[in-house]
Amino acid sequence: MRDPSEIFDRLRTAEESNPLPEVKTRISWLERLRSAVLSRRADIRTAVWEDFRKSPVEADLTESIPVLLELKTALGNLASWTAPKRLRSTFPLWGLSSRLQHNPKGVVLILSPWNYPVNLSLGPLVSALAAGNRVIVKPSERVPHSSRLIANLIGDALPEDVATVVEGGVEVGAELLNLPFDHFYFTGGAAVGKEIMHAAARHLSSVTLELGGKSPAVVDGSVDLDQCAEKIVRGKFMNGGQTCIAPDYVVVHDKLYDDFVKAILTHAVRIEARAEMSALIDDRHEARLEAMLADAVKEGAILHHSDLHRSGLTIATGVPLTCKLMQEEIFGPILPVLRYRSEEELIGIVRTNPSPLTMYVFSNDDRLVNRLAAKLKTGSICINETLLHFVHPHLPFGGVGQSGSGRSHGRAGFETFSNSVPIMRQNARRGIIPLVYPPKGRFGDWARELLFRILGRW
Ligand code: NAD
Repeated sequence: MRDPSEIFDRLRTAEESNPLPEVKTRISWLERLRSAVLSRRADIRTAVWEDFRKSPVEADLTESIPVLLELKTALGNLASWTAPKRLRSTFPLWGLSSRLQHNPKGVVLILSPWNYPVNLSLGPLVSALAAGNRVIVKPSERVPHSSRLIANLIGDALPEDVATVVEGGVEVGAELLNLPFDHFYFTGGAAVGKEIMHAAARHLSSVTLELGGKSPAVVDGSVDLDQCAEKIVRGKFMNGGQTCIAPDYVVVHDKLYDDFVKAILTHAVRIEARAEMSALIDDRHEARLEAMLADAVKEGAILHHSDLHRSGLTIATGVPLTCKLMQEEIFGPILPVLRYRSEEELIGIVRTNPSPLTMYVFSNDDRLVNRLAAKLKTGSICINETLLHFVHPHLPFGGVGQSGSGRSHGRAGFETFSNSVPIMRQNARRGIIPLVYPPKGRFGDWARELLFRILGRW
């Protein structure tokens, strides 16, 4: 492996020689990336299949297509995103004109996880390139085929002084954290997220943390149970439940509970018969999930339709909030279904694991949705659907508190990788300052007093 600091120095030199790449240069980078993704879509399917048996359908839907969508949005909007934004002037600052200019952050690091390896490496890369940065991408070592593919794809599509992949494990990641990147963009678990924040603090650099958490799905009495059960099962089934925004657990109104559990089981059986579920990433992950299930059963939970080895969903009922299944992000094909009798109880359950990445609400009662949105802290809210908000090109994506900080996708992603520089110009010959600033005099006193009066009224 080449020395990460040498790669960093090469990118820094390139950045210093051309700190603000033209829009047409960025467009050519993005177009080359788009051609590379399109021409390698079969290789993408093979790599994720080799890594954890992700089906070709899911490879297209959750790896290649979201990246192409991100590219389409960036290519279609880059001219307007990069155009300096004029800002209004206001009393008492008449005579000044101001604008915001989006400059690249410089040299940035993207550290990606194993669960959507292509999507979560190339998606942020699109935003970083659109903003004009030089980039190092480090994919996860737990998906070696995907990591190799990403290295080859980026190596063939982009000049080495624009973007380079550094492959390797935790030690390589730690080495990269010692380099003075202008922005650290991390997708992964909360424990490593804290180390990334420490590293960014050492360099006083900005940081984006895309973490996980326990995203609840709330089901009230006003929805079509069957449709809602199907959407929740699909959302959980995708990628074998190994999705940061998978519905982690469901909280259902007491009066629907028994019917809902039946509907969930029916759809679990139906979808398993029709689609192939991704495997668990490795034995360590499987052992962790087995231990969580054993702990839940010991605490009184009942498992339905359970067999992790068969690659199906396990539904768990009667799960106490005190067991591991309700205290850690599950990140696998296990779905606890809890009941609530009152809104207060529902809010208490969700608050047990604060600040999820997403809250799903299945309800046609807008007042309930608005109350939950006001009372519960969450990265995003998705109503009567699962997962789709992630691919909406104009919706910013990201967490809050434990589930992360910063925003990605579309314009929000472009802004994450940009410094928005305020630029102000004085157009009047003298402006207001000489009127209110010393030398002392009665006119200055009077003018300042007038200013207080006017500002006090507005
Ligand atoms: P992880 O935190 O173990 O690893 C992520 C990346 O960080 C990998 O490239 C890894 O090599 C690197 N890394 C690990 N330790 C490091 C260290 N000490 N120093 C530097 N780099 C280090 O995460 P994972 O297991 O690959 O992913 C699963 C987690 O990611 C879950 O919690 C999931 O919810 C979260 N996730 C979040 C999103 C999102 O968009 N918010 C998306 C996918 C996954």
